[in-house]
Amino acid sequence: MIAGNRPINYLRISVTDRCNFKCLYCVPSTPFSVIEHDKIARYEEILRITRLACELGITKVRITGGEPFVRKDIFSFLERLCAIESLKDISITTNGSLLTREKIKKLIALGIKRLNFSLDTLDPVKFARITGRDRFQQVRDAIFSAHDLGISPVKINTVILRGINDDEIEDLTALTINHPFHIRFIEYMPMGDSAVEKQQQILTREVQDKIESRFGKLVPFKRNANDGPAKKYQIENARGIVGFITPISSHFCSECNRLRLTSRGTLRPCLLNNYEEDILNPLRNGASDDELKQIIINTLTKKPSFHGLTDQVKKGIPISHMTSIGG
Ligand code: SAM
Ligand code: SF4
Repeated sequence: MIAGNRPINYLRISVTDRCNFKCLYCVPSTPFSVIEHDKIARYEEILRITRLACELGITKVRITGGEPFVRKDIFSFLERLCAIESLKDISITTNGSLLTREKIKKLIALGIKRLNFSLDTLDPVKFARITGRDRFQQVRDAIFSAHDLGISPVKINTVILRGINDDEIEDLTALTINHPFHIRFIEYMPMGDSAVEKQQQILTREVQDKIESRFGKLVPFKRNANDGPAKKYQIENARGIVGFITPISSHFCSECNRLRLTSRGTLRPCLLNNYEEDILNPLRNGASDDELKQIIINTLTKKPSFHGLTDQVKKGIPISHMTSIGG
């Protein structure tokens, strides 16, 4: 599938809008309701849409949420997903809090080789402040277990906010010196109505300057054709990688190869644009495979050439919050 001149081979599937954390940059600051159970796409529905998307050229899938591991029977779903032959790469983004060593072993047995964890601090007290949960140790253990058990690469997503965790940029980066982790600093995106204030937003340049003043000039790391949006670097002689994901300061839309399936069963061609196409209701109303494929193709014709988030925020148009889309 092609959108503009961008080949689309990556489907990001959100299996739930629910989460056991309340990260202050992610969940809305005002009361919100979760999606009713019968409006959430069932596993067999997600699998049918995924198979059809694979017939149209999808080869990579990332499972996300909300927190994927809060959804019941997620392992049986993952097993069926891993059985789709044309899928070459299945990965998961998780807060790690529910991933025991045994569960990571099960993921590996299913063929999942890559995990992205979210971790914004190395301080357990601050962790509880950012996420609303006292689970630092579980998350740290999950990250190190994944590494010990051979998950490679172990990626760690970090959102830096001024006055919250900007004093830990160097310590988080230092993890890459002795471990082959990929630490990825993601610029905060103003989505929904999170509790984050404009002045707390920190752009990559400032993060990178702090890192370089402690560790010296970062060495650019060679990119592979299948790399995501992170610009990759290394501290000289370090084992791991430092990545910067810059949706705000330098958008990477021209290279975006993604389509999203939300837990409500809508297809979303761009994270930062509210256009969505319903595929779940047509499926439930008996649409044929060809009709569903046409919905996928039509959705991609609406993939914007760039996200325009800053303009939308200026105009006061809120982007749906992250858990309702899938990060
Ligand atoms: N619960 C899982 C987790 O935290 O990894 C998966 C879903 S979460 C929405 C996916 C990623 O989105 C996380 O790495 C999180 O840090 C990031 N994220 C959430 N809200 C964000 C925001 N407003 N700006 C930038 N990144 C955000
Ligand atoms: Fe939950 Fe992930 Fe959002 Fe944190 S970032 S609230 S863990 S979905």
